[in-house]
Amino acid sequence: TALSHIRNFSIVAHIDHGKSTLADRLIQSTNTVAERDMKAQMLDSMDIERERGITIKANTVRIDYTAENGESYVLNLIDTPGHVDFAYEVSRSMRAVEGSLLVVDSTQGVEAQTLANVYHAIDADHEIVPVFNKIDLPASDISRVAEQVEDVIGIDASGAIAVSAKTGEGIMETLEAIVQHLPAPKGDADAPLKAMLVDSWYDSYLGVIVLVRIIDGKLRKGEKIKFISNGTIHHVDRIGVFRPQMENVDELGPGEIGFLTASIKQVRDTRVGDTITHQREEVTPLPGFKPAQPVVFCGLFPVDSALFEDLREAIDKLALNDASFSFEMESSAALGFGFRCGFLGLLHLEVIRDRIEREYDIDLITTAPSVIYHVHLKDDTQFDLHNPADMPDMTLVDHIQEPRIKATILVPDEYLGEVLKLCQDRRGIQEDLTYAGSRAMAVYDLPLNEVVFDFYDRLKSVTKGYASFDYSLMGYREDNLVKMSVLVNDEPVDALSMMVHRDRAETRGRAMVEKLKDLIPRHMFKIPIQAAIGGKVIARETLSAMRKDVTAKCYGGDASRKRKLLDKQKAGKKKMRQFGKVDIPQEAFISALKMD
Ligand code: GDP
Ligand code: MG
Repeated sequence: TALSHIRNFSIVAHIDHGKSTLADRLIQSTNTVAERDMKAQMLDSMDIERERGITIKANTVRIDYTAENGESYVLNLIDTPGHVDFAYEVSRSMRAVEGSLLVVDSTQGVEAQTLANVYHAIDADHEIVPVFNKIDLPASDISRVAEQVEDVIGIDASGAIAVSAKTGEGIMETLEAIVQHLPAPKGDADAPLKAMLVDSWYDSYLGVIVLVRIIDGKLRKGEKIKFISNGTIHHVDRIGVFRPQMENVDELGPGEIGFLTASIKQVRDTRVGDTITHQREEVTPLPGFKPAQPVVFCGLFPVDSALFEDLREAIDKLALNDASFSFEMESSAALGFGFRCGFLGLLHLEVIRDRIEREYDIDLITTAPSVIYHVHLKDDTQFDLHNPADMPDMTLVDHIQEPRIKATILVPDEYLGEVLKLCQDRRGIQEDLTYAGSRAMAVYDLPLNEVVFDFYDRLKSVTKGYASFDYSLMGYREDNLVKMSVLVNDEPVDALSMMVHRDRAETRGRAMVEKLKDLIPRHMFKIPIQAAIGGKVIARETLSAMRKDVTAKCYGGDASRKRKLLDKQKAGKKKMRQFGKVDIPQEAFISALKMD
């Protein structure tokens, strides 16, 4: 296809504003997919995505469109994830296209992820066409949304298109706007091959599939290509495009987006952002991408320890398709063998955990999520702490630094007080507070540690779901951090230990032991539950023993027999206290860590 007749674009939106529905409608109205094959949310392929209504992996579709001027265009849509955990995937796929549709739900207005995602598009120098969706709903208010887009984002909203992705109204105007207002790609078909590795994933039939954007030159089946980052050579055995199912083609030229397979075994052998050329060519590499780094770590243990090998297999398979997920074996006195895993954020963690439980049928215990701390020792060495269990003795530690984030929260006025209080409680420092109409935008500098567990859930609950949230990592700062251990029946339970700020340790410790007291069932003996920093107990509860009235069986008044039985019972308790083991139900590990 001639460059002038190609348009490459992405759709940016806050979650639930209708990105997937709009993509479906664009696909459907151009007869890209036969009517009988059309199912809702064509691009959201994984079940879990469909259920949760979120898009996780970037997906692509090629649409043939005959414009009003009678000419045929190829429109390549790259769908991007909408959640903050996957900001990195958003930013990298944006580099492969020239324009964006900015979808805003006209009954809701601009939200935190609208902002975050549109900034990625602006960073990538995109031409942006605003699309105001859900105009079929009575609450739709286009002029208010237009004002917000201009005031808050600062882009011209005069060319915005009013759309209902549900009824199809405005879809033809959207397709025309893509052709009229988005730029055609540039590139030189006669230059040496230069292609961008946009994404890659594992397919059990075809091996690793690589999504590429051709910048210059041509890519053909059967050719030998080279990944510039590591010099590896691969024989291309298939190239094609997505409609959205895979369709083979003979060649891909400048401006085109498609896939290749080349008997690549693992996703890890491909580097997103890498430059691809022919075996014997030298081209200047594209500006590199940094790989996504895991920021949240937790332990995953099988509830049934006999399933450890099954868990290993499940994790190996998932990792094949997800280079941003890291893992290593871990053993814990309380939980046996498992894995310490790193994730891009909490949603990523939940997605992986759900997939293991669902697709591999393994029940899991998840330990407290933790961030990476920089621990500086007195001997001038430093290491990255991924697991509170590895924390050295405090006397060896000089200071500890923790990761901080910049959080942007958009919220209707009436809930602002609650939001400020929540941020304050989580050691936040206010950086900015502005208003756009009846909505406030608060920007906070917050410790990531205070956000990873349940900040998002709390934010949603104190604002009845009206707040939106986005964050980016800012860097590390020193603070007064300590490791808090939890002892159940005088045994430390590694899986419950956590890093906390010294000033918050008592409150957290108290809340934790009180929760555990409710969560652990009574045993035949009494169980002390303690939170401690180093050797110092900062909170304590005692779970009293279950009292089995063994004397009830004794009829009559034989007092000495009664006493004998009671003595026996006491001895039994003692025995159990000495050798017995406390059963901690698995939900305790999650519940005990939630704060409310
Ligand atoms: P995404 O998270 O941005 O991909 O949003 P979805 O496309 O999944 O849409 C979120 C919800 O809004 C779904 O329940 C859609 O059916 C609904 N929706 C999307 N577009 C429209 C629209 O134009 N009108 C109405 N009434 N509902 C819509
Ligand atoms: Mg979606």
